Amino acid sequence: MRSIAIMNQKGGVGKTTTSVNLSAALAMSGKRVLLIDMDPQAHATLHLGVNADSETQNSIYDVLVDDVSLASAKTPINGNFDLVSADLDLAAAEMELSGVVGRELILRDKLKEDNASYDYLIIDCPPSLGVLTLNALVAVKEAFIPMQPHFLALHGLSKLLETIQLINKRLNPKLRVSGVVMCMYDGNARLTSEVTGDVEEFFRVQHGGATPWANAQIFKTHIRKNVRLAEAPSFGKDIFTYDPKCAGAIDYLALAEEVMNNE
Ligand code: ATP
Ligand code: MG
Repeated sequence: MRSIAIMNQKGGVGKTTTSVNLSAALAMSGKRVLLIDMDPQAHATLHLGVNADSETQNSIYDVLVDDVSLASAKTPINGNFDLVSADLDLAAAEMELSGVVGRELILRDKLKEDNASYDYLIIDCPPSLGVLTLNALVAVKEAFIPMQPHFLALHGLSKLLETIQLINKRLNPKLRVSGVVMCMYDGNARLTSEVTGDVEEFFRVQHGGATPWANAQIFKTHIRKNVRLAEAPSFGKDIFTYDPKCAGAIDYLALAEEVMNNE
């Protein structure tokens, strides 16, 4: 199984849009996919039209804090695509877990206990480097970093990579940054191509080194700015159900192809 955390502590760069639509594209290609929503905002949950209501449905909060099984928190999206939902309670998890020994390891252990088998585990991380993102990074082998090509794109990247390196050293030696996705790409804007060039150069000069991001692939597929991608969540649909012919659908399908080529 490939296990991928979609992470960037910067807000609004395309983490959730990528988590949901990449998961959906992989599932459409016949892969068995488990998507875990690790964000208290529950955007991935809502994007897939699942009710983020703590009264009726176990969520990742119950898995992390109340020790329920992952299986009991899954909602089937379709035959080979399951979601572990989030809800607002998750915002309290950080505090509630603060005194718990080994709190970064809970999700990893829960995944080990889970009997279902998947080809892909995708985790949508919140925009922070707190205990929720740490749980994700301890539980996976790969991190994908979505980036929005504006002038502060590289700002904060060193903090992110420092975190990855620490987790790699202390908690999860298998963790690698394996992909960088440029999201909300505007091919007509000069700034977009300049920043994309800077990002490529940043990773190129470190290629082949000893860092966990030394072999990061900057995906050739750029996710173009496409209003359909911004509309789909409010209908509770992934992009392929909402508008299968739009640029956003084409781009996320192409991204999934690139991801699967590296299997
Ligand atoms: P957060 O840090 O709050 O979790 P995020 O990194 O998950 O944010 P998204 O929610 O995926 O980012 O995207 C931010 C906003 O931009 C959303 O309203 C989303 O619908 C929109 N968006 C994402 N990708 C695109 C795109 N390629 N074209 C147009 N709009 C997009
Ligand atoms: Mg998000």
